[in-house]
Amino acid sequence: DWGPAPESRAEADAWLDAQGRAFGHYIDGKRLKPGQAFATLNPADGAELAQVTQGTAADVGKAVKSARRAQKAWAKATCHDRARVLYAIARGLQKHARLFAVLETLDTGKPIRESRDIDVALAARHFYHHAGHAELRDEILPGAEPWGVCGQIVPWNFPLLMLAWKVAPALAMGNAVVLKPAEWTPLTALAFADICAAAGVPPGIVNIVTGDGATGAALAAAEIDKLAFTGSTEVGRILRRETAGRGLGLTLELGGKSPYLVFEDADIDGAVEGLVDAIWFNGGQVCCAGARLLVQEGVAEDFYARLKARMAKLRVGDPLDKAVDMGALVHPEQKARVEAMLARTSGTIHQGSAPEGCFLPPTLVTDLAPADPLMQEEVFGPVLAATTFRTPAEAVMLANDTTYGLAGSVWSQDIDVALDTAPKIDAGVVWVNGANRLDAAAPFGGMKESGFGREGGIAGLRAYLRPATGPATKPAKRH
Ligand code: NAD
Repeated sequence: DWGPAPESRAEADAWLDAQGRAFGHYIDGKRLKPGQAFATLNPADGAELAQVTQGTAADVGKAVKSARRAQKAWAKATCHDRARVLYAIARGLQKHARLFAVLETLDTGKPIRESRDIDVALAARHFYHHAGHAELRDEILPGAEPWGVCGQIVPWNFPLLMLAWKVAPALAMGNAVVLKPAEWTPLTALAFADICAAAGVPPGIVNIVTGDGATGAALAAAEIDKLAFTGSTEVGRILRRETAGRGLGLTLELGGKSPYLVFEDADIDGAVEGLVDAIWFNGGQVCCAGARLLVQEGVAEDFYARLKARMAKLRVGDPLDKAVDMGALVHPEQKARVEAMLARTSGTIHQGSAPEGCFLPPTLVTDLAPADPLMQEEVFGPVLAATTFRTPAEAVMLANDTTYGLAGSVWSQDIDVALDTAPKIDAGVVWVNGANRLDAAAPFGGMKESGFGREGGIAGLRAYLRPATGPATKPAKRH
């Protein structure tokens, strides 16, 4: 029950006011006094929402120390004790669903319909799922040993959901965490600290240290046992170098440029609707967005026409309006990045409409050569790059003609075509006649430059356990 209209921001404003709109880190079960701070903005109107502390290496050190102390007892607690805490977190998120959804929408600019029905709902689901697995840990993963202290760094596109993907399996397996939210979107992670305290998470098991990339780098350099990162391929590469030879567990969930294949026998209206989800969900700021449309030549004109008609109807505007399809981009800098990429393309640009400010219209770009930057580089905005193919073999060749390998979609009414094509796409997940289908029970993660490691499912639990045999990985020699 949502009580008052979800688009009302009264509860979120009251919560921010109660904290004096200035936040310190959450370390050892306590919210600390704010230190040197930076502002987090509402991209929809440019207004400052709160001041947030820039974490230093000393702050990170303090959090890691607290996590180290607390983790020993947490690892010795019974599976049932850990499960109870995770169930309580899940219920806490549901109880405060409106606060979290509105805060997420204010901080990221995403439509309230998405934060309510997807971000918060899936975050709670993730904790329920992992509570069940926490209970069964010793049975399903016998001899399991947690890594210990996990550093976790998350991006701004799904702040609470990415936190859930990281914190839930870590705690379920007996680890303690130090999590750094993205600098543009720290608020739901800070609100999550309240949920932890109320759910009986022992002090030190969940620590939230806010800050920018420098804080993230300090966390990667700290005395942690495992690092889990979701973000850009560029930073992932840096972190891989920085953690090499230290015997750390490492998972990297990075960027993507996922193909969306439409065969001529596809349900065309279904495929158009699927694309609305694949590329304009969260304004295209989605790692697994279906950002490259590959459509079979015979139906391309018809498909583009129907897609453009649908684009014209998408409503872009106030993210707190329940009827809005696309909200604001996360930050004016992100908008500028997307515009700069559009300015460089030699393709033909087709757009819907959007209001002034940190908004962009749904955009389709056609007549693209395979080497055009828009076919190759991750845009992370509402831009669909499109081209055509003739044969299934050419479709697969184009689909794989990228450095990334995160996700893909195949649309066909012919089961042979669909099942023959899907496994040939180099990607962690390929959806048939669907897009962006995520579930806590299904492992998610990339190939190639989209990273390695899985989140969700049993594979996601294993990522929070040391290798089953023998002691921790031996530190490799440095070259
Ligand atoms: P980003 O890499 O710039 O930042 C991600 C996080 O890393 C932020 O918290 C940031 O503060 C931190 N960071 C930045 N520099 C760092 C450094 N040198 N050391 C340690 N931490 C550092 O990415 P972004 O722009 O916030 O997010 C968008 C990217 O995330 C996109 O490329 C997207 O594809 C990717 N993403 C991937 C997945 C996935 O599951 N594969 C999910 C969501 C987003």
